Amino acid sequence: MSPAMPRIPRTLYREEHEAYRDMVRRFIAAEVTPYLPQWEEEGLTPRSVWRKAGAAGILGATVPEAYGGSGGDFLFDAVLLEELGRAGASAPAWDLHAHIVAPYLLRYGSEAQKRAWLPKMCAGEAIASIGMTEPDAGSDLQRMRTTAVRQGDHYVVNGSKTFITNGIIGDLVLLAVKTAPEAGARGISLLLVDTKTPGYRKGRNLKKAGNKAQDTAELFFDDMRVPVAARLGEEHDGWRMLMSELVQERLIVAVRALATCAAALERTLAHVKARSAFGKPVFDYQNTRFRLADVATEVEVGQVFVDRCVELHARGALDMVTAAMAKVWTTELQDRVLDTCLQLHGGYGYMWEYPIARAWADARVHRIYAGTNEIMREIIGRQL
Ligand SMILES: Cc1cc2nc3c(=O)[nH]c(=O)nc-3n(C[C@H](O)[C@H](O)[C@H](O)COP(=O)(O)OP(=O)(O)OC[C@H]3O[C@@H](n4cnc5c(N)ncnc54)[C@H](O)[C@@H]3O)c2cc1C
Repeated sequence: MSPAMPRIPRTLYREEHEAYRDMVRRFIAAEVTPYLPQWEEEGLTPRSVWRKAGAAGILGATVPEAYGGSGGDFLFDAVLLEELGRAGASAPAWDLHAHIVAPYLLRYGSEAQKRAWLPKMCAGEAIASIGMTEPDAGSDLQRMRTTAVRQGDHYVVNGSKTFITNGIIGDLVLLAVKTAPEAGARGISLLLVDTKTPGYRKGRNLKKAGNKAQDTAELFFDDMRVPVAARLGEEHDGWRMLMSELVQERLIVAVRALATCAAALERTLAHVKARSAFGKPVFDYQNTRFRLADVATEVEVGQVFVDRCVELHARGALDMVTAAMAKVWTTELQDRVLDTCLQLHGGYGYMWEYPIARAWADARVHRIYAGTNEIMREIIGRQL
């Protein structure tokens, strides 16, 4: 953030959060940023950085100590998201692992399930993913066709998933399946599947327009036998669990999007002040100042709103509609801001080696995943 921002002091974080931020920022600068270009080439992140993050306490900040974490509040997760956004680090997908999958286990897992997975996840020894989307069922998730048929104390799973983040490197997938195909949303269950289970097959690591260091995979299940004991929560109760966890998933996107905007503003200010055209810094043109004045204003306004959402969520009071509003507004702001900032970098802004180019490409997916922005508008519109 530029020295002048935020103008309205943030009151959300306490001293322990800022100390954690300091550690996370240094960790990302040393262990992530220098390696991103290589990971982008390879299309995935190595296990070593997950283990290092685990050892640094980054993967279990909000998991209770009994399960290998540090037992902090949601604000610690928000700090990590802000720092990843600030650094332009689209990978590793620690948010999906620690802020999306781990909370399902914590809220709905049995004691045995928690003990089996959470300590390894906190240590970065087991990498988690979530498998909801299928080739013919994305927004309309109820149409999923992957089935789990009960046979004694096992389910026999057949079907496929696509676009699964951490699908290549993952050890655990929280898998949404149909246990009663005729019952629509009421026939969905969630299974904790070890990716070494026979019948579990990884497909392609999909080539993407951005987030290139994150692996995004197709998954296939052929007569995969999963113990009934690996079911999360009650049978047929998957839809309710999915809906309740989506509030946090959408807020996560919003927090990160806003931090990305603030970082883009900072980088662009530095660039336009250093770069000259027709004998004066690009910053000295009124067009530049006006456009960045708009960016600065929107980031300032957005920060107050997002901070308030985070505060509400930290005490369990953020509702589905407000989370949808936060996701829509911040991700569309992000696209506008990054487009402006890239333009003000001129041709350099289009070069991959410049963080603004990466940020622009990485941002686009935020309007698509965690529920598309059209679906967010449906959620908001229904409540009006
Ligand atoms: C990089 C990346 C990572 C992902 N990671 C994961 C993951 O880890 N796990 C996972 O399960 N999924 C993941 N996804 C999938 C993501 O959640 C879906 O892509 C998303 O939900 C949209 O589904 P779809 O792609 O099938 O699009 P569709 O549902 O086919 O949508 C196509 C278009 O139709 C619009 N539309 C659909 N329904 C309506 C409606 N009712 N009203 C108005 N417009 C509508 C959509 O908004 C969209 O514009 C990921 C996707 C990407 C791109």
